[in-house]
Amino acid sequence: MRSDLSLTTDRPTFVAHLECSETGTRYPPDRIYGLSDVGKPLLVRYDLDGVARTVAPEALDARSPDLWRYRELLPVRHTEHITSLGETMTPLVDLPSVAGRLGVARLLVKDEGRLPTGSFKARGMTVAVSMARELGIRRLAMPSNGNAGAALAAYATRAGLEAYVFVPEDTPEVNVREIAHAGAKVFRVDGLIDEAGRIVAEGTERMGWFDLSTLKEPYRIEGKKTMGLELAEQLGWELPDVIFYPTGGGTGLIGMWKAFEELRTLGWTTGRPPRMVAVQAAGCAPIVKAWRDGATHAERWEDAHTIAAGIRVPAAIGDFLILRALRESGGFAIDVPDGEIVEASRELGSVEGLMTSPEGAATYAAYLRALAEGLVSTEDRVVLFNCGNGLKYPLPAAGRRIDKTAPDWALIADS
Ligand SMILES: *Cc1c(COP(=O)(O)O)cnc(C)c1O
Repeated sequence: MRSDLSLTTDRPTFVAHLECSETGTRYPPDRIYGLSDVGKPLLVRYDLDGVARTVAPEALDARSPDLWRYRELLPVRHTEHITSLGETMTPLVDLPSVAGRLGVARLLVKDEGRLPTGSFKARGMTVAVSMARELGIRRLAMPSNGNAGAALAAYATRAGLEAYVFVPEDTPEVNVREIAHAGAKVFRVDGLIDEAGRIVAEGTERMGWFDLSTLKEPYRIEGKKTMGLELAEQLGWELPDVIFYPTGGGTGLIGMWKAFEELRTLGWTTGRPPRMVAVQAAGCAPIVKAWRDGATHAERWEDAHTIAAGIRVPAAIGDFLILRALRESGGFAIDVPDGEIVEASRELGSVEGLMTSPEGAATYAAYLRALAEGLVSTEDRVVLFNCGNGLKYPLPAAGRRIDKTAPDWALIADS
């Protein structure tokens, strides 16, 4: 198998139009867009009949194992605009010890930490930056809790575009340096992610940059939806019963739900789509609160705090789309305190040898809670999402000392 096949082969594309996610108003394709006229996210719609006539799911087998194998369901028209750092298919890692203890047949983690820049943000950014290139955009800007900024920096640099990233004051140093290392201009802002976002919004006029904030442009979600396409393909086009997803801005969850709808329309999957579960940290749980209140939109969460920086998002522009996906899928929203996230991370490492980000560990903590509360059963086939590489986060202190001249070092080592 040639590993560059998806990057060099021209394929037909099927974008029909863009659509306002609230009003359904249509917009012609192949133009630069931010939000719709009513200030809501725009979604890309495809001629799915055309896709179904052109490509069968089996045809994918011959393609290289990366995100661009789903080209007919992606917006980039011209192959030369594809900006790639090797977006590999991510593995489904099972948790046999945990599953055995809980009495479930199989528990799977989709490990997105293997992607370029160590998080699934690469999926959104490889597509969004490729589209920026296709549409002639030269300067990009975004607020980020760390991982999105790192992905933007890497792909923008790769494409020869300028990138500006604004991160909250308390973003871990390693993320800030990673963004700078990948060639972007990065600034700490004394506030939270939505406050950093305000600078980006103001700068569209003053600085002439394009605002790549989550769901404020239509293409990052198209990249993120490939998590859903890939999951379906890896499971032989049979979707799991329940998906636990660590939810910040929610693009991953909304994107996967969009993917499942497209797959159903294409006839590539049959049966009930998965119940989508939005997992948040107790210190920042606007979606969980809105879900419990039966609201269609979420209120901004004040004093947001959690070690899981990727889901520290006090207000999400796609809140109503997340809540809609939870409702339509028969899922729910659930929060877990940081203490349980730390414990879940420790268990996955020490029992399964699996390194997760705190956000990924949160999905396991939430699964345990949901099992205990009867929200899911041991019969359900469950997939947890780990969206980032745990090595990008601080770990608990470790490494006791041994004096190399001490005669009793073996006793210490054994204790
Ligand atoms: C961004 C991020 C999330 C949240 O993803 P959304 O789709 O934006 O809700 C979860 N985990 C990690 C590691 C992230 O970087």
